Amino acid sequence: MSKFNRRDFLKVIGAGGIAAGAGSLWLPLNAQAKTGGRVVVIGGGFGGATCANYIRRFDPSVEVTLIEPKKEFITCPFSNTVLAGIYNMDYITQNYEGLEKNRGVKMVHDTVKSIDPAGKKVTLKGGSSLTYDRLVVSPGISFRWDTIEGASEATAKVMPHAWKAGEQTTLLQKQLQAMKDGGTFIIAVPQKPFRAPPAPYERASLVAYYLSKNKPKSKVLVIDSGDSNEELPVFKAAWEELYPKMIEWVKGSEQGEIHKADAKAMTLTGRSGASYKGDVINLIPTQKAGDIAQSSGLAGKDGWCAVDPETFESKVHKNVHVIGDACIAGDMPKTGHSASSQGKICAAAVVSALRGEKMPSDFTYTESIYSLLEPAYAISSAGVYRLKSGRITRVSGGVSDVDASKKTRVKESKFARGWYKGITTDAFAKS
Ligand SMILES: Cc1cc2nc3c(=O)[nH]c(=O)nc-3n(C[C@H](O)[C@H](O)[C@H](O)COP(=O)(O)OP(=O)(O)OC[C@H]3O[C@@H](n4cnc5c(N)ncnc54)[C@H](O)[C@@H]3O)c2cc1C
Repeated sequence: MSKFNRRDFLKVIGAGGIAAGAGSLWLPLNAQAKTGGRVVVIGGGFGGATCANYIRRFDPSVEVTLIEPKKEFITCPFSNTVLAGIYNMDYITQNYEGLEKNRGVKMVHDTVKSIDPAGKKVTLKGGSSLTYDRLVVSPGISFRWDTIEGASEATAKVMPHAWKAGEQTTLLQKQLQAMKDGGTFIIAVPQKPFRAPPAPYERASLVAYYLSKNKPKSKVLVIDSGDSNEELPVFKAAWEELYPKMIEWVKGSEQGEIHKADAKAMTLTGRSGASYKGDVINLIPTQKAGDIAQSSGLAGKDGWCAVDPETFESKVHKNVHVIGDACIAGDMPKTGHSASSQGKICAAAVVSALRGEKMPSDFTYTESIYSLLEPAYAISSAGVYRLKSGRITRVSGGVSDVDASKKTRVKESKFARGWYKGITTDAFAKS
């Protein structure tokens, strides 16, 4: 891996607002061409919103319909700050006005029930159907309830995952606020791959931030199903500094990897038989691509969607592209920034395909993720990826230094907010 000049990289992606979401995609597309054609995008999250937006930016003659059940999109990024009472739900709520008014994307608020790849058609829950020349699928994740005995959608009302932001975030926040001083807040980290690898540790930090201010005798127990995460050593060092003795981390290979949940007794059981009792239990289940990717056959046995890494076209169905958390994107982690970066590359691929042109290649994929540990203290990781032997491969990247100064942590917390503003402005076409 080539040496990463972290300071220079952060200058570009951290402080740069829109550049945070823009990745490094500069396309030689002919702005005069009148391609026409019809594209349907499923899912108005980071991947789908960005892709719909950029198809229209690259070629306004293409008709783009974005199908998303919700009128407002609540982002997972910064949702841990809502749990901790630093921000409220308004801060993490986005709407689709910019995509409609500034880009001319047609919004349909419904859920796609089925995809007919041969007939190039999607059918909606509401009963109508839409035809397409190209389909982009960005449905995010769903949960593998079957990997934990006793876990289900119903259990999640008692032991919330809060891994899709919205109701679940509010529920977990209420439980945290109602917890007695001296209580135990458990976070069960799922097996990889899962959405936002450092986010469970960010959550542990911000829950500890809340507890240290409001219920200082309490404890956060992080039960990890794995042993390795590149940010973990930086988190652990920061926990010692910010929340001494409040956060305990249980190593996956020893007692972690939860296989049983008892919502009545409020216990989790690890594979080794160890039992954990919590006053609040944040059980984050193992994940797979969103339901529509499963029912349409886009996902394989492993639960994720195999794609051509240059165009994100599905390896199963022609003229259908899968981006974001749902797809297998080599070394790229499942993050909003990755989904957005993929959305732009996919937009270029879709426009090129509609024009019958060859997709421009040799581009760079980028992503970064910030984690707040208290309002003015953040760390980050970032990666730059290129295609190598047909695989998206990390060629450069890094994590915040374990012994960085307090000044650097404060600076990174400002970059984190700049990143959020930049990526949401960009993805949801706010300007
Ligand atoms: C606590 C937490 C913190 C995070 N923090 C960060 C961070 O700081 N930075 C970062 O980059 N990432 C972060 N992430 C990860 C990020 O949220 C996801 O990686 C990102 O949302 C993935 O984008 P996506 O487009 O694949 O899916 P999503 O953004 O989840 O969008 C999927 C959309 O598809 C819609 N949908 C699903 N099925 C259908 C259907 N059948 N028909 C129509 N619509 C459908 C859903 O309603 C949803 O709106 C965090 C995640 C968590 C849980």
